Amino acid sequence: MTQKNPDARLEDAAMAAADTDAAADAAGRPSTSFADLGLSETVLAAVSDMGYEAPTPVQAAAIPEVLAGRDLLAAAQTGTGKTAAFLLPTMDRLPHVVPPAKKGERGRRRRNAARGRGPSMLIVTPTRELAQQIDDVCRAVAARTGHVAVTVVGGVGYVPQKQALARGCDILVATPGRLVDLMEQGSANLDEVSVLVLDEADRMLDMGFLPQVRRIVAGCREQRQTLLFSATLDEGRVGAITDLVRDPARVEIAPVTSTADTVEQYVLPVSRDAKNVALTAVLKKEGPERAIVFVRTKRRADTCARRLSRAGITCGAIHGDRSQAQRERALRDFREGRVQVLVATDVLARGIDITDVRYVVNFDVPEEPTDYIHRIGRTGRAGEEGWSLTFVTEDDVAEFFDIEALMGKTADLYDADGIDTGDGAPAVDPDRVPAAHAPSKKERKRRRQRANKARERAPRTREPRERAPRAR
Ligand code: AMP
Repeated sequence: MTQKNPDARLEDAAMAAADTDAAADAAGRPSTSFADLGLSETVLAAVSDMGYEAPTPVQAAAIPEVLAGRDLLAAAQTGTGKTAAFLLPTMDRLPHVVPPAKKGERGRRRRNAARGRGPSMLIVTPTRELAQQIDDVCRAVAARTGHVAVTVVGGVGYVPQKQALARGCDILVATPGRLVDLMEQGSANLDEVSVLVLDEADRMLDMGFLPQVRRIVAGCREQRQTLLFSATLDEGRVGAITDLVRDPARVEIAPVTSTADTVEQYVLPVSRDAKNVALTAVLKKEGPERAIVFVRTKRRADTCARRLSRAGITCGAIHGDRSQAQRERALRDFREGRVQVLVATDVLARGIDITDVRYVVNFDVPEEPTDYIHRIGRTGRAGEEGWSLTFVTEDDVAEFFDIEALMGKTADLYDADGIDTGDGAPAVDPDRVPAAHAPSKKERKRRRQRANKARERAPRTREPRERAPRAR
């Protein structure tokens, strides 16, 4: 669904190669090729089918470790090539539950041999869109390795998914909620899972999927290889599940704030009442084509899309209440230029690989500072130029300053010439210093909550051991 066109991929490959080469040069080492990483000829053929020329840094670091059978703890965001980093080495080693087709053999006989069995690899990812992206890469590799992959996500019918699982599969790609439903209905059996990948683990926890993740892990084999990918390995964010990996190799690529460096950032102080009119004016001034507007809530996404349509700007809306088909249509229309603007909630902020986004407008300041990084990361990808504009009102300017403090840099004031910003727009000092900003009340509360959570988690295992010597 979100595969890049071959040209864009090749550009990325060049970028990736440049990154890897730069890192290698700096360390005085020769640059790495896919062939150097230990992948088989079969998987190297798939790499070449996909047009990848050189491994990205996360691929170069992770592939040999995974091929050696080690668990992995990897900090890497979408856009770093992490999907291939886990799929290439795992699929290279993965046994076939469904026997690969022999020349001239009928597909049905082959599937009958595996009826009801598998998967031996499970990939859990937070959103339907990410599942679809993984499915795409999985199929490209499977075209060479002969593995059978099934994807199960929420928002679509159960019956085809149950039928696909009943036929047997080697690889299952799933979102947590739907997978737990299918387990409870007796349709998904994880007994044979010997490789488990948890993708965007921080996001899954943020979305409240910890109970589902624990339930899923409990269904997998005790003896297994576990790969955990997350935008951050911060203890406060993913500490609740890092116990799932054993003696892992650690790979850390691009800290979460790095995307912010490639995007020109602007801020527009505006009054609450003038926001809507200002949005239309900005889009018309800059040209609305290939812009994404982020808003905080599903309702605001719908009303904002309607308002823009009335102003003659074609747009699609994408948020958690839209069906899978509606989301896919909106993404496709945007990608293919049938609509000019995509209005989205943070459902789209992470993970989705849309190239060629000219700019991002944060109509509302995001709730979580890291979502800001993910939102603006939709533009300026793979070396393309991109920029972002954030509207700030009296209500959320302090939260925006928190984000700047996190990034350690400030956004430039947008040239609002010809745009009515209303009465009562907040004052934003163009010479402000990000680090000097005192955290807002909301940020202080958020930090307290995180610290409390970390404290609640930590002592449970340690306390009894610490008390033991005193009792003797
Ligand atoms: P991901 O981080 O897995 O979402 O990948 C981001 C994009 O990079 C996808 O469009 C991939 O097709 C592309 N990609 C992944 N690995 C490479 C590579 N080694 N060379 C070029 N493009 C790549």
